[in-house]
Amino acid sequence: MSLTGAYDPDNIFAKIIRGEAPAVRIFEDDATLAFMDVFPQSEGHSLVVHKRSRARNLLEIEPDHLHELMDAVQRLARASAKALAPDAVLVSQFNGEAAGQTVFHLHFHVIPRWANRPLGRHAGGGMADRGRLEELAKKISAAA
Ligand code: 5GP
Repeated sequence: MSLTGAYDPDNIFAKIIRGEAPAVRIFEDDATLAFMDVFPQSEGHSLVVHKRSRARNLLEIEPDHLHELMDAVQRLARASAKALAPDAVLVSQFNGEAAGQTVFHLHFHVIPRWANRPLGRHAGGGMADRGRLEELAKKISAAA
């Protein structure tokens, strides 16, 4: 999909938001939802989305929604750092297929990094064990 086009209300993150697809949730409020990435690039890799926005990417989101989303990104980054004690936290976000975007509901990645551990492939690694994701989500949620 290119940078322009229509929002697909049946994309996987829209289904997760509506509770129609499973996800390991970390925290949520009226506006935003944080959940574990099921193909993590690093231990504790999580995602955060706006629940009401139909923006496919950063270029499309309304400023008020963006403010709410960035508050949640910071909360998630802080909680991940506190809960998992990484050496660093990578925050990433892709706009358009050529940039690496694979799910077209705007989202930010929060990826804890350790100096001696290589970063896994983006959207191309193995599926994580659900039990392990639940343990990590519980720790991050407790620190949020
Ligand atoms: P993008 O490539 O669009 O920036 O990132 C999409 C992310 O969503 C990838 O990191 C990928 O691992 C993750 N992902 C894809 N399908 C699912 C899913 O069904 N559940 C969850 N929790 N994450 C997913």
